[in-house]
Amino acid sequence: MKKLFLFLSVICLIGCNNQSEEKSKESISTAEEVDSIPNFGIVIHGGAGTILKENMTDSLEQAYKAKLEEAIRTGHEILAKGGTALEAVQRTINVMEDSPLFNAGKGAVFTNAGTNELDASIMDGETLNAGAVAGVKTVKNPIDLAYEVMVNSDHVMLGGEGAETFAKEQGIELVDPQYFYTESRYKSLQRIREKEKTELDHDGKTAFMDPFIKDSKFGTVGCAALDKNGNLAAGTSTGGMTNKRWGRIGDAPIIGAGTYANNATCAVSSTGWGEFFIRGMVAHDISALMEYKGLSLEEAAKLVIQEKIPALGGDGGIIAIDHDGNVAMEFNTAGMYRAKMNKNGELEIGIYGK
Ligand code: ASP
Repeated sequence: MKKLFLFLSVICLIGCNNQSEEKSKESISTAEEVDSIPNFGIVIHGGAGTILKENMTDSLEQAYKAKLEEAIRTGHEILAKGGTALEAVQRTINVMEDSPLFNAGKGAVFTNAGTNELDASIMDGETLNAGAVAGVKTVKNPIDLAYEVMVNSDHVMLGGEGAETFAKEQGIELVDPQYFYTESRYKSLQRIREKEKTELDHDGKTAFMDPFIKDSKFGTVGCAALDKNGNLAAGTSTGGMTNKRWGRIGDAPIIGAGTYANNATCAVSSTGWGEFFIRGMVAHDISALMEYKGLSLEEAAKLVIQEKIPALGGDGGIIAIDHDGNVAMEFNTAGMYRAKMNKNGELEIGIYGK
């Protein structure tokens, strides 16, 4: 009897041990499963400038936050389902282009001639392929046309009427230029025109130095994303600067200045005083500092935005994500509309300075 009891106890012990081993195996595999979801993430901006809490109403602040959240969730959902960084960037930017709150698509600023001329660019960090359009007047979503230039033409950048012809050929949605009209942007143009009448310098420099004029361009939009396959992409879309003339083109459609993506380093979208961002080749400079100098994304973004661009006399900011999913949202202006979301769905939205 004693022997039988001992035998049964041994059997039970072995059984129990096996059970607890299986349990821990189960929990290990659950933890492993969570860890094994490939990293991904997304970051956006809706323009940088003198954005101050005292100049903002609660309802406008809520409207900006809601639209930033809608935009970033659009891209995050695409990435979570295994979609590409390129698709996430394009669709996220579409949401902001369609909102009159931002200076891109609907709500674009006015040129000196009272028209809207839109610029956009997109870049694929895997292939280093890129597409851009400048000065288009009837393309509802310029980022979509930039994407078509990248995938369906032998070129990187198309401008003006030729770009519109290409848009028609690609079946891109075109709208009457009236579509881009918003009263607030038109008022900004009128205010600048009034100011110009009282100033002696008509070469456009004084106008751009004026803080109101310099800031009446808020709302360029941009997005950078890392997908589950480790591919990076970035895109930027804008109406440029209020009162621009002579076919002025800013940094937004210029690969290396307004947009850059490279799987080896990071994906970047810029916003700010375009002339300085072109001269500083901001987006590519951040990537180059990582590639050649071994800086982290954060260090590279800080150096370019807090030191190099101010030293030239410019201002603005960037959003960026690197191949490990680290994110930078760096700006030297009072504020920048911005949001980021990581693989776990943690969302952070910001407007004012840190
Ligand atoms: N960078 C844009 C441009 O110069 C404007 C902006 O980002 O606010 O056209």
